[in-house]
Amino acid sequence: MTVLGITGTLGSGKGTIVELLKAKGYRHFSVREFLIGEIKRRGLAVNRDSMTMVANDIRTKEGSEYIIASLLRDALQNPNVDCVIESIRNPKEIDFLKANAKFYLLSVDADVRIRYDRIRLRQSETDNVDFETFIANEQREMCSNQSTNQNIAICMQRADFKLYNNGSREDLSHSLDLVMQKIKKSSQRPDWDEYFMALANMVASRATCDRGRSGCVIVKDRQVLVTGYVGSPMGLPHCDEVGHLFKKTTHEDGTISNHCVRTVHAEQNAICQAARRGISIDGSTLYCRMTPCRTCAMLIINCGIRRVVCEKRYHIAEESEAMFGDAGIELQYFSDEVLKYSNQ
Ligand SMILES: [Zn+2]
Ligand SMILES: [Zn+2]
Repeated sequence: MTVLGITGTLGSGKGTIVELLKAKGYRHFSVREFLIGEIKRRGLAVNRDSMTMVANDIRTKEGSEYIIASLLRDALQNPNVDCVIESIRNPKEIDFLKANAKFYLLSVDADVRIRYDRIRLRQSETDNVDFETFIANEQREMCSNQSTNQNIAICMQRADFKLYNNGSREDLSHSLDLVMQKIKKSSQRPDWDEYFMALANMVASRATCDRGRSGCVIVKDRQVLVTGYVGSPMGLPHCDEVGHLFKKTTHEDGTISNHCVRTVHAEQNAICQAARRGISIDGSTLYCRMTPCRTCAMLIINCGIRRVVCEKRYHIAEESEAMFGDAGIELQYFSDEVLKYSNQ
C-alpha cells in the first residue's frame, strides 16, 4: 500500500488533488474531518481558529503523530488499497509516516492572490475571512517554534514532490499524473537490463580515468560472470595519479582527435578477468556505459558475446555499430543521449 500525504498552503488545491486521487482509486483520510469531529465533540464553533487550537491541543497532549497514527491505523484495515492523507501539517507526522508506511509527501502551492480568490469562491465555514485575516492566519500556520504545532513551511520543504497550481484543474491533473508515474517507477523492481546497467554504473565508480569513467559487466543466464572498469594495467600508474597519456589520431577527413591511451578499457578488463579465471563468456550479454570503441567491439565479437547493452551512445559509434551489425550482435541503447567529453 502506498500512502500519499498532501501538504500545502490554503487554497492551493489540496482538495482538488484528493478528488483526482479518489478518481484513481485512492481512499481518502482527512485530518480536517478528524478535527471537525473533535471540535463538535467539544462544543466549539467550527472555524479556522478552533481547527488550529484543537489540533495543537491534541498534538501537545497525545503527541505530534497521534492524529496521523489514528488515520494510518484506519487505512491499514485495508492494506491492498492505496490511500491519501490530507493534510500533513507537522514534520513529526512526516517522520511517523516515513517510518510506518511506504510514504510519499506531495506539497502544493500557488500565488497568494489566486489562493485567496479560490477560497472566497469556496466560502466554506472556515474560509469566510478578508484578505488581511487570510494572510495573518496563514503566517501563523506556516511557521511555529513549538515542535507540536503546525509548521506547514517545513513540511512543504520536506516534500518528495512539489506542485505549483496557478493554472487550471487540467494542468494540475497532468502534473499529478507525472508524480504518479514517478511513484510507480520508484516502487517497481528494476527489470534485468536496468538491474545489470545499475551494476555496471557501480563498477564504473572504480574507474581511474575520468574520460568516460567506464564500467562493464558481462552476464549470462541472468548471472554476473565478470566485471571491469577503465584503468591502467596492473602495477602501472593511473590517470588519476599522473594524468592522462594522450595520443592524437588523424582521421580521413583531416580532423584530429585526442585519446587517452594509458588505460585498459572496461570491456577489455572484464574480458581479461574471464581469461584469468577461466570463465567462458561465449553467448553472454555485455552491459556498458557507452558504445564500445572499435578495438573493444572486435574483442567482443571474437569472445562470442551475443548482445551488447549500452547506457548511452559514444560520439563516434558508427564503426562499432556497423561491425556489430555485420557480426549479428544485438546492440541496444538505454537512451538516445550522446556521450561527449572535453578535448576529444
Ligand atoms: Zn586517462
Ligand atoms: Zn574500448
